[in-house]
Amino acid sequence: MYKYLFGPVPSRRLGISLGVDLVPHKTCSLDCIYCECGQTTDFTVERQEYVPVDDVLEELDDYFQNHPDPEYITFSGSGEPCLNSRIGEVIEFIRKRKPLVSIAVLTNGTLFKQEEVRKALLGADLVMPSLDGASISTMQTINRPHASIDMEAYIEGLVSFRNEFQGKFALEIFILPGCNDTADELTSLKTAIERINPDVIHLNTLDRPGVVSNIRSATRRELEDIADFFKPFSVEVIAAAPERKGLNSYRSDIESAILETVLRRPCTLEDLATILGSHVNEINKYLGALEEADKIESVHQDRGLFYQAKNKFADN
Ligand code: SF4
Repeated sequence: MYKYLFGPVPSRRLGISLGVDLVPHKTCSLDCIYCECGQTTDFTVERQEYVPVDDVLEELDDYFQNHPDPEYITFSGSGEPCLNSRIGEVIEFIRKRKPLVSIAVLTNGTLFKQEEVRKALLGADLVMPSLDGASISTMQTINRPHASIDMEAYIEGLVSFRNEFQGKFALEIFILPGCNDTADELTSLKTAIERINPDVIHLNTLDRPGVVSNIRSATRRELEDIADFFKPFSVEVIAAAPERKGLNSYRSDIESAILETVLRRPCTLEDLATILGSHVNEINKYLGALEEADKIESVHQDRGLFYQAKNKFADN
């Protein structure tokens, strides 16, 4: 069992990818209301070696020796990967050891105003920074940023990275109806997009429950209308995750263990990850499948989002 690698997990954009998590659970510069990993608990913009990178390199080495190459190796997980001050070394290590494997970085982009962060990512093939609004009020509603984050510096950082990075730059915009889809918001966003000039825009929306209860997913139609508005930029509406149960990596014993655990008492994502010794992104995959199968449901409580068995299963 690896501590810093997870999956391979199904990704909506990359197919099946091996995840690398360089920060402890919910170490982030944002506290997005839609975050699938729960509320940010270590709210910071300070870069440091949050997890020992030598151990990450050892795990990667072991993975390469014992498994077939994945399509992608993706820096993501349960927080902001660029907060780890040695992310560039991990990218270089993979680049040298596996020159044919693609490297992707999922990041909120808020640290891009720092030149060393931008430099650290230059060896990646695909970087997917996010920008959900172009005004600080929208950002405060959706992303609840660390107090030191300045909107103009955030956008300027994205522009600088776009100019320096030779790989594919996919700007992710997470649409939450009622929060960032008004005509004014979309017009401001489009102005920011024109400055950033991404290769492609990924329009995303809720797939799993977020941190707060009063938000909903955008419909396919709403996303397509927004995609039209952003033309002539290339826009991809992100489809649902690949059918989870069809994956080779899907393990029904883990699904059963989750179901048995939540039958006894409701649990948060983090509780389940601790009890079952798996990464939160891995557990998320099974929670998604169990929700799709109508076997569990999520409820918001003071301590966060809890998963519990649906009544018909609890009564059995
Ligand atoms: S930036 Fe990503 S990890 Fe951080 S709170 Fe937002 S969705 Fe979660």
